[in-house]
Parts: sequence; C-alpha cells; structure tokens
Amino acid sequence: MNRKPVVTIDGPAGAGKSTISREVARRLCFLYLDTGALYRAVAYGLTVRGYSGNDAELAGLCRSLRVELQNRDGELRVSVDGEEVTGKLRTEEIGILASTVSASPAVREALLSLQRDIAAEGGVVAEGRDMGTVVFPGAEVKFFLDASVEERAERRYRELIGKGERTSLAEVTRGIVIRDRQDRERAVSPLRVPPDARIIDTTGKPIPQVVDIMMRILEDAGASPAR
Ligand code: C5P
Repeated sequence: MNRKPVVTIDGPAGAGKSTISREVARRLCFLYLDTGALYRAVAYGLTVRGYSGNDAELAGLCRSLRVELQNRDGELRVSVDGEEVTGKLRTEEIGILASTVSASPAVREALLSLQRDIAAEGGVVAEGRDMGTVVFPGAEVKFFLDASVEERAERRYRELIGKGERTSLAEVTRGIVIRDRQDRERAVSPLRVPPDARIIDTTGKPIPQVVDIMMRILEDAGASPAR
C-alpha cells in the first residue's frame, strides 16, 4: 500500500539528465534507473555480434541478446550475454547506434518488462526518453529536462574530452542533432513531453540549482527526501 513513488525524468541528449537523475535518486535514497544504458547495451551487443545495419536481422538478433540488470549495492549494472558492460557504453558511436536501433519496436519490446520489473516496488528515479509517456505512464512525479542544442553539445563535448575521447565540438553537435531528430521523429515511443510533466529548461543553470528546484517539487508532491 505504502509503495514508494516512481519519478520519471525524460529529455533529449545532453540536457543534464544523467547527472541530475543520479543526484535526485541519491537524495531520495531511491534506485537510479538509467534506461539509456539498456539501449546502449543492446547497441554494444549488436556490435559484438557483427550487426551489419540490416533491419531484417535486428528483431532476431535482439531476441537472442541476453540483457540483464543487477542491483549491486544500490547501483544498477548492465550485462549483455553475461558480459558486464556498464563502463563501456558512454561513447558517441554507441550513443548514435543506440538511437538508431531504439526506433525498432522489437528492441523496445525486449526492454520493456526489464524496466517495469525493476521499478515494481517503486522507489526509483527512471531516466530516458519515454519514461513518463510509455514505460511508467502512472508515475507519481514526472519531469522533462531540456536545454539549447548549443549548450547540450558543449556539455557533452566537455564530458567526452574529460574522459579522454578524441572529438570536436562540431562533431558532437552533429551527433546531438542526429539523435534529436531520430529520437523525436520515430514512430514508436518518440521523445515527447508527457502531458503531466514539469518542464525544466536547464540552459544556463548549474546542476545543483536544477536539483534544488526538482527536490522542492518532489517535497510538495510528498516524495520526501531521506532526511
Ligand atoms: O540517454 P542516452 O544518451 O544514454 O540514450 C542513448 C539512446 O538510447 C538515445 O539517443 C535514445 O535513442 C535511446 N533511448 C530510448 N529510450 C530511452 C532511453 C534511451 O530510445 N528510454
């Protein structure tokens, strides 16, 4: 009866979702569910299996991929065909392939129950593109984070350079624009603002300020923090 809430955070690439969702989950003592990692894990698994980009192969390959989530001390880890891949997924190539294959109904279907099962008891901050619209339409509190393309590209560029990747701002901007188009225009589960979501534009706002705004909304909604 006293199920903890599910909080959804949707938005385009580079809007600050991951850092913000992780911090909100930490403050609430909730589990952080990064659903982008699941789509990235599928993309990674397809690469390992030698996926050639042929749509006809996709459904079969994806049905045979074993994507699993393990809760290790409150942190979710993703594995594909038994290989723990959590640390290998945050590259631009994997992000763009994830965006391409995530338009396939077979891929989305394969990941749906995994996402719902992990949140069955509530107490989850779920981050992605279709959290509030498709996966958790009944979530207690929904957010949609957005920011200008320029700022999203700049943030993603700094993050990648910080991790030692070789790239340019122009290349990262191109990747963001491609992913925006693919994610918003696909027929299944396109990126949309859930009708009952609170929209927050993070352009020019430091992360702690955005988190504070969200925590106030969560407190008002009765999803009180740990302390
Ligand atoms: O959020 P992240 O950049 O890790 O997501 C990678 C890609 O996975 C996105 O561009 C999007 O196409 C796809 N995705 C999705 N639905 C989600 C989460 C991610 O389609 N719930």
